[in-house]
Order: sequence, then C-alpha cells, then structure tokens
Amino acid sequence: MQALKIQNVEKSFGAIKVLKGINIEIEPGQFLILVGPSGCGKSTLLNMIAGLETVSKGDIVIGDRTVTHLDPKDRDIAMVFQSYALYPNMTVSQNISFGLDIAKMPKPEQKVVVDRVAKMLQIEPLLNRKPKALSGGQRQRVAMGRALARDPSIYLFDEPLSNLDAKLRVEMRSEIKELHQREKTTIVYVTHDQIEAMTLADVIAVMKDGEVQQFGTPQEIYDNPENQFIAGFMGSPS
Ligand code: ADP
Ligand code: MG
Repeated sequence: MQALKIQNVEKSFGAIKVLKGINIEIEPGQFLILVGPSGCGKSTLLNMIAGLETVSKGDIVIGDRTVTHLDPKDRDIAMVFQSYALYPNMTVSQNISFGLDIAKMPKPEQKVVVDRVAKMLQIEPLLNRKPKALSGGQRQRVAMGRALARDPSIYLFDEPLSNLDAKLRVEMRSEIKELHQREKTTIVYVTHDQIEAMTLADVIAVMKDGEVQQFGTPQEIYDNPENQFIAGFMGSPS
C-alpha cells in the first residue's frame, strides 16, 4: 500500500488556478521532496495534504484512507513549519507534549514520549527551558520534537531550515536525514533549495507553475532532466 497518493489534485484561488492536476505517489518510509521556485505551489500542496487548505478538485489518500475532506487532526500527519511556532509561556517539555495533552494521554505516558523524543533530538538538557532561552537551531529541534511526539504516519515539513544560518542548516540537514534513516519515517518536505533536495530525498517532484515537471530519484533527475528548466534548476551539467 502507498503511504500517500495525490490524485489529480487542483487548487484555485478565485479565478487563478495555482495547482493543475498533481499526481504523486510515495511508499511508506520514503522521503519526498517538493522542490521548485518561489510561488510554484509547494506550500499550497503541502497545506492541502495537511488539511490546512481546501482541495478544489481531486483526492488525497493517506494509507488506505481518503482524507480529502477530513480535519487536520484526523489525518494522522504532523507538520513542521518554517517559523518555529512554539508556545512562549510553556517549557520545552510542555511544548513537545502539547499535542499529547490535547489527545488526553496520561501524564506518565507523556513523560516517556517526551524523554524518547528529547533523546532522539539531543535536547534532554533543555527540557525545562522556555523557548526564549533557546537558540534558533534548538527551537527548530523542539518544533521537530513536537511532530515526532505524535508519531504520525506522515511528517510534513515546509522549508524547516530556511530561517537558520548556513552552518546550522547543514548540521540540521544531516540530522533530519539520519532521523529518517533510523526511524524509517515517511516525509514530505518542501524546499526551494536544490542542494537540500539532492541530499535529502529518496524521490523528488520538481514543480513549476502549479505542475510537477518531473518525478524521480535525485540521480535520475540530475542525470536526465526532462527539460531546460529542470536542468538549470537542478544544476545538471549541460
Ligand atoms: P510556494 O510555496 O511554492 O512558494 P505557494 O504555494 O505559497 O508557493 O503559492 C502558490 C501560488 O498561490 C502563488 O502564486 C501564491 O501567490 C498563490 N497563493 C497562495 N496562497 C494564496 C491565497 N490564500 N490566496 C490567493 N493566492 C494564494
Ligand atoms: Mg512556500
């Protein structure tokens, strides 16, 4: 069974069609990157998978369930945004367990989850701090921790590293990759950065003007770009 199927998905804002019949399928445990220039529709597509944006046409299937019209909370997904979106008055520990609290998980079980996630992300010494006492990279780890705590079937990332400085970006990139390989997580990850796409992805969908121009492994796309735009964008040798 596929982890995720995007079937003929379209999105219009008023008279403007920003996504034009998107078809993508990924297997459980695959790392999919949606890459393309600013404004091509990456975030809109991710938000539709998350249920934060309505679907104009087509279907979104997660596992064996069509979720096109379900609430975000009923989709078995977790999203990590570009901005950290942490609760400033809560500790790191409370930020990570927030979703578990909402789901009424008993406190002792919450603690087990928080400890597991903190260990995974190496933020154990930070658990009692408030977000303002954290660096940018630490905040982004906590935001990831909150997603990991929910143990969803799909993780959605929208440019999670773009607010970080170059050094930290490289560091976090390899941490995300390790996490994916170790935990066999299914990830859909949006970026406009082709290096991030090449280094992280199992499969890449290169988007432009609301369409998927090419879908394949990083190697396939780099070696055999289907058009000039993709060759240029992915930096393929000419
Ligand atoms: P990307 O994430 O690839 O930069 P977006 O998905 O944010 O692109 O946007 C795709 C297109 O849809 C852009 O032209 C953007 O202006 C438009 N768009 C996004 N959200 C809205 C909205 N709520 N209302 C109208 N147009 C929107
Ligand atoms: Mg975007």
